[in-house]
Amino acid sequence: MEQFAKDLAAFIEERKEKTWEISDDVWGYAESRFTEFKSSKEEADYMESLGFKVTRGIGGEETAFMAEFGSGKPVIGILGEYDSLSGLSQEADVPEHKPIVPGGDGHGCGHNLLGMASVAATVGLKDYMEKNGTPGTIRYYGCPAEENAGGKAFLVREGCFDGVDICVTWHPGTTNSVSRGSSLANFRIFYTFHGLSSHAAGAPHLGRSALDAVELMDVSVNYLREHMIDEARIHYAIMNSGGTAPNVVQSEAQVLYAIRAPKVTDVIELAERVNNCARGAALMTGTTVDIRHVAAYSNVIPNDVIGDVIEKHLNEFVPLDLTEEDMAYAKKFTEVITPLDKAALENQAKALAGKNWKAMLDKYPVLNFVLDGRMLKGGGSTDVGDVSWVVPTNQFGTSTLAAGTPGHSWQVVAQGKGPVAHKAMLAAAKVMACTAYEFLTTPKLVEEATAEWKERLGGESYPNPLPKDMKPEIW
Ligand SMILES: [Zn+2]
Repeated sequence: MEQFAKDLAAFIEERKEKTWEISDDVWGYAESRFTEFKSSKEEADYMESLGFKVTRGIGGEETAFMAEFGSGKPVIGILGEYDSLSGLSQEADVPEHKPIVPGGDGHGCGHNLLGMASVAATVGLKDYMEKNGTPGTIRYYGCPAEENAGGKAFLVREGCFDGVDICVTWHPGTTNSVSRGSSLANFRIFYTFHGLSSHAAGAPHLGRSALDAVELMDVSVNYLREHMIDEARIHYAIMNSGGTAPNVVQSEAQVLYAIRAPKVTDVIELAERVNNCARGAALMTGTTVDIRHVAAYSNVIPNDVIGDVIEKHLNEFVPLDLTEEDMAYAKKFTEVITPLDKAALENQAKALAGKNWKAMLDKYPVLNFVLDGRMLKGGGSTDVGDVSWVVPTNQFGTSTLAAGTPGHSWQVVAQGKGPVAHKAMLAAAKVMACTAYEFLTTPKLVEEATAEWKERLGGESYPNPLPKDMKPEIW
């Protein structure tokens, strides 16, 4: 390991207690999209107290902030998140579903770790730069509302990443691996139908049912599936069915759609076809429809130049130094996954270890080795995609969770303050600090990453998917 990597790791270790404390606090606040007031404040206050220049409320988002150190080129950004998920309140460390607040929010995607590891990386890097007089600028971006609202798309639209040369980020998960592929672009759109209420038996001819419109829209979209590209995904949730009385014609009903495809330009086209399904349903039922687009995520433009530097350092800080107790902790959670998740994990183990897969899983209740990111299947969406259209960006994951833990689940919340999570987040911080340092001090690497980024874009520019007048909102 090179000297700078050893030194950066030592700086991050020095402040690990504080890193864990704030991450645990953010876990406890469990604030969802655009309400991360305490979480962002605690991170921003911490960085300000250490001498960072902190700008709060960037890009029109009250809970976004940027913490900067240094001056001049290059400018290296490290991205963090801190939003929770609704309905996933859960006690820490217990391998059974036990909400703290029934129906409350919880960190089901590990963003308490995500944000603070990125803070720790930026702080460690500053410590190093100050000691060694390293030139250049580093920035931590506190990015709200990754879940369901695509907070970074607004920050990109408002120019918050202008002039940034390289961005690095990570995500907690079940593997130590570098992202080598893209993600799905994704729109979230509310369709609200307005009809006329009436007595469902006495005067049905005077009613116009908004619920009928939602149902017809959903049916028509399910027919649409046959005529869209294979990789597209559409899912919906009925947010308001119009009431609980079958003998009242429902005058208002609402459905929320997620529309995904490999490229944001595909989603723009597909969303218009879904809009037409809504308009058709309104016409059929004599209702009207309001179409409200609330979030847009662009697909990720991956970058292997950055990915290779990340991978080099990931191999330096993985395997994590896990004790017998840490492994026993993780094992509790591998025992409570659903049979389907278990089968998926076993398939993954078979692909990795062949006939030795059982021994591998026994030895590794945490997948404590670096896995080739090309072996992993994607399918999700992230607003890191929007940043990657305007700045060469790459990300990776570390194993903060027991193998097989399903995403967005109470099991993720339960493990969010555990020993594996704590160790894996520090490893992530070290990898990000080392990667950022290499780009900070090696102009050739920045040039190469930029050249790859331009080639992948193939002359396209950011197709800002947000409607012009759309503002970040709490919904
Ligand atoms: Zn996430």
